[in-house]
Amino acid sequence: MRYEVGDWDKAVQVLADAPDIAIATHVNPDGDALGSSLGASLGLRKLGKRTYSSWGTSPLSLPPNYFFLPGADGFLQPSDVPDTDVWLVLDCGAADRMGELEERAPRAQHVINVDHHSGNTEFGDLNVVVTTASSTAELVTHLLIDCGVEIDRDIATCLYTGIVTDTGRFQYSNTSPDVLRLAADLLGYDVPAAAIALEVFESSPFGYLKLLGRVLERAVLDESAGFVYSWMTLEDLEVTNVAPDETEKVIDVVRSTRSAEVAALIKEQPDGTFRVSLRSKGPTSVGEIARANGGGGHELAAGFTASSVDGATTAILSALGRRAAR
Ligand code: 5GP
Ligand code: MN
Repeated sequence: MRYEVGDWDKAVQVLADAPDIAIATHVNPDGDALGSSLGASLGLRKLGKRTYSSWGTSPLSLPPNYFFLPGADGFLQPSDVPDTDVWLVLDCGAADRMGELEERAPRAQHVINVDHHSGNTEFGDLNVVVTTASSTAELVTHLLIDCGVEIDRDIATCLYTGIVTDTGRFQYSNTSPDVLRLAADLLGYDVPAAAIALEVFESSPFGYLKLLGRVLERAVLDESAGFVYSWMTLEDLEVTNVAPDETEKVIDVVRSTRSAEVAALIKEQPDGTFRVSLRSKGPTSVGEIARANGGGGHELAAGFTASSVDGATTAILSALGRRAAR
């Protein structure tokens, strides 16, 4: 057993025994979701298994920053994932994070929920939930090793990408000596770390500069609440010709505001709702705020869906007010 997780050995056993494994991760996948999925897929295939990787958005399309990942062209449309006996669900704090695949997973004999989000709803038959893990990729690395997979350059590239993105390039508080040792071990497989950094963190279309300009120009600082926010409309994306999946890093600029502890970026969606990305520098738990509003996430990075920009900021400010008053 690793990490004192009761279901660890059973999960290893089920994975080792299964000939066919569906691998599902969360909608709007990030580097950890994609790196863990592809690392798991490549690793399990080395054991002779058939794997089917996807996430629950139709039509599924991979964010350009992750085109370089080995096996990236192998993601299936959600409807093409067969009903296998074993479903490996990665980096999903709750079943609804699987999007369109949420209703498919329960048909499986074994749903293995591998995740590191606090507040994970333990929706699996087997739950490998380790909130102290830096990333789901970290957990997948150890699961693969325990299944007898020999890590190679492609697998290590995927897993390292998951770790480097979820630790914010080894800057966030989830960066421990053990995480750095694990990342160092993965780099030992000749992983192109500098090229990965360029692809993931330093590569955007030109229109992204214009998009940043529009969003940053309208940012609002509520100094007394220690809260900074801005919003991004569908018109912003259209005018600057930037795809929604290229906007993951905009929040990183907003949150750099010195006098704000909590930052939000509110993004208009095609269905008329607004996705709220929340970040905290601590001690405020934005995970708590997100959960109170029907979303979820980590203490310092979380999200929820609101019906308007005003609705989102009112909910956040009232949560911050309640905290301050306590
Ligand atoms: P982001 O702002 O980058 O979309 O999300 C930040 C973190 O919160 C990620 O770990 C993401 O998985 C999680 N998260 C974002 N939105 C939701 C949501 O609606 N529900 C849950 N459970 N987690 C979310
Ligand atoms: Mn993650």
